[in-house]
Amino acid sequence: MRMAHVVVLWAVRAIPWWFVAGGGVIALSLSSRDVQGFCRSRTCDPTLTSCPPDPDNPACLGGGVPLFWGRACISYSLNRQVAAGISNAEFVQAADASFRAWQQAACKTGATPSLSLTNFGSVSCDRLEFNTDQGNANILMFRENKWPYENAENSLARTTVTYNKDTGEILDADLEINATYEITLDPASQVTTDLLTILTHEIGHFLGIAHSPFESAVMFAYSAPGMAKTQLTDDDIDAVCSLYPPAPINEALCDPVPRFGYATTCAVSLSEPTPTCGWAPPRTSSSSAALVVVVLALGRRQLRRPGRRLGRRLG
Ligand SMILES: [Zn+2]
Repeated sequence: MRMAHVVVLWAVRAIPWWFVAGGGVIALSLSSRDVQGFCRSRTCDPTLTSCPPDPDNPACLGGGVPLFWGRACISYSLNRQVAAGISNAEFVQAADASFRAWQQAACKTGATPSLSLTNFGSVSCDRLEFNTDQGNANILMFRENKWPYENAENSLARTTVTYNKDTGEILDADLEINATYEITLDPASQVTTDLLTILTHEIGHFLGIAHSPFESAVMFAYSAPGMAKTQLTDDDIDAVCSLYPPAPINEALCDPVPRFGYATTCAVSLSEPTPTCGWAPPRTSSSSAALVVVVLALGRRQLRRPGRRLGRRLG
């Protein structure tokens, strides 16, 4: 099975949103009429190759095919180990509210996206992994002791998506929150970042949405202390309604169980990854599917803390 990965990082406020870690700055000359709104995550890997602008929307990267979940029913799970100051119940509440915001987006027709997002409960596994010979879970987790990626002081979270390289179908997604800095439940906080804001943005990536060129959007590439973004804007709603057009969901046939079954523990024989950019390559198998892991990270504006200024990325 052929593997590859993509790393897309948010940058601090002073850097254009299309700054791509490892790939330099993609020089785009955009006029306001070129900016058409939301972007989709794609199979093109900007860390390995130069992804061209999307001809239909030059504010977005093109190349490859767009990512999407091929099923309306998707489950997610929360790691039991929560960050200091956040209870398990608060973590569940924030995660459920964030997924619900996307699921209940009011599309132009008045209906909601064809999504049924279900909390499968807590898990002990805290790894990024996608197994093809045992169960999986789409995990939301905190990284409290160490942020194992570059630019820890600029990063707040990352979302890792495993997908079929040929079709762009998402098979698994895991979300990590950088809790080496204080994460709060206070949207107005001036010293840290609101959990609900982080999760709402990351779940956009979870669903296959890339950064938006519109500053007001939840999916814009920067965030700022005290600037809560927990309400989807029209651009965010257009994105999720475009990816998952409203349609009746047959709950009886809807299967939110992850690919290859549901597992609350990590794979038994998973070899320890040695990531240079924090991603864990999926295990190889006899499956003919071409799988790719894409890591989507989110940046934010400089963070003010007593006596110093810090920048962070959301993921
Ligand atoms: Zn992001």
